[in-house]
Amino acid sequence: MQLSHSVEWYIKMFTRQLIKSIFHQLTATRKCWPLHRQLTASVAGGNVVVLQGPDLGSPLKFPSVWLRDNCQCSACFHKNTKSRQANWTRTNVEARIRSINVCQQKKVTIDWWDDHRSSFTLDWLRNRDFAPTNRKRYIEEIYRPPCQLWSKKEFPNLIRTFEFTEVMEKDEALLAWLECLAIIGFCFIKNAPHDISVARQLSEHIGFIKRTTYGEEFEVKSKENARNYAYLMAPLPLHTDLPYYEYKAGINIIHCYVQSESLGGSSIMADGFYTAERLRNEFPKFYEILVKTPVDWYDLGEDNGVAFHNIWRSPVICLDVDGCYHRINENSTKRDSHFTVPLEQVAPWYEAYDKFVELAYAEAVEFKMASGDVFVFNNRRMLHGRTAYEDTPYNKRHLIGTYVDWDIIYSKIRILRAQQNEAKLY
Ligand SMILES: [Zn+2]
Repeated sequence: MQLSHSVEWYIKMFTRQLIKSIFHQLTATRKCWPLHRQLTASVAGGNVVVLQGPDLGSPLKFPSVWLRDNCQCSACFHKNTKSRQANWTRTNVEARIRSINVCQQKKVTIDWWDDHRSSFTLDWLRNRDFAPTNRKRYIEEIYRPPCQLWSKKEFPNLIRTFEFTEVMEKDEALLAWLECLAIIGFCFIKNAPHDISVARQLSEHIGFIKRTTYGEEFEVKSKENARNYAYLMAPLPLHTDLPYYEYKAGINIIHCYVQSESLGGSSIMADGFYTAERLRNEFPKFYEILVKTPVDWYDLGEDNGVAFHNIWRSPVICLDVDGCYHRINENSTKRDSHFTVPLEQVAPWYEAYDKFVELAYAEAVEFKMASGDVFVFNNRRMLHGRTAYEDTPYNKRHLIGTYVDWDIIYSKIRILRAQQNEAKLY
């Protein structure tokens, strides 16, 4: 009797345990199941592959060495300064994974063989996906908007004009202005006050002025004993400013304080990137020469009692790391008679250069600013100049200019875009 009672008791206990265990498993599975269906992670060939589920896009792939290097835990990453504080002297190149878990709040948690644990949210991972479309999105939306090249024919349809007070008071107008500069390369601001500080105000509204040999603000007006060719009434050929600087200024902000009433004093401008593109398509050999041959650009003189001798060796057409147009150097008045290339490269370079200048003039547009207008353009890209003019005792053409660097402008664009989209910056 004693025994059968005991067996009964064991059966009861076993059944109870079994039910409890099945129930426990069911609830545990229920908690994980929907996430499991959406999100799984595995290791394949040194990469972590995150499958997001049928409706949530293609698999995300991340090299395990990159995940280990970008661990977001407080030991590896300093949140306040957004700085990596691991792998300063050596990188954990092996980065061997013990296990991956995806069962908590859309997080991928990795346990490494050295007993370290890293967790990454799905959003963070998606944002850094190595797929070509995502890299393109990041480069074009966050890094830099791509340039839109334009010909003389297209110019009238691309003119954008902003109101001075709107740009100074409204963030949307400021962002639109800077995006236009980054993409099209130029724009106009109308109705600036008759105040010599307009160019300074606009520069400081973006960030800060780039100072050069000629000071923070430069005045373009005819001067006796001019120290720069621009300070004459003579025509100014198509050029970019400051080719003789390694750190050439990014944009010119030119405020027309007083315009010449004479027939001249018009501005001329051509898209240097478009000119380079035409050369590449129509005269590829000349293009190669202008991309590869360094030219000695120089500025030797004195301004406000300070003597200077600037030199920078650089080709006419400079490309960036992706092979896109980065910077055009062209300035006949600042091209040195020193030309430090092998003898046999000189004559072919002149032939290529002559074709580039011919194409630039063929693509040049002409317009005349009025007093109160501000002409802003990319100094790495736009070739610009002016026609001759004549001052009278009652009418002296007077422009006031400043420079701002692209680093400052792109940073402002990113900050303003993030504010507008209410997006997190990192
Ligand atoms: Zn860590």
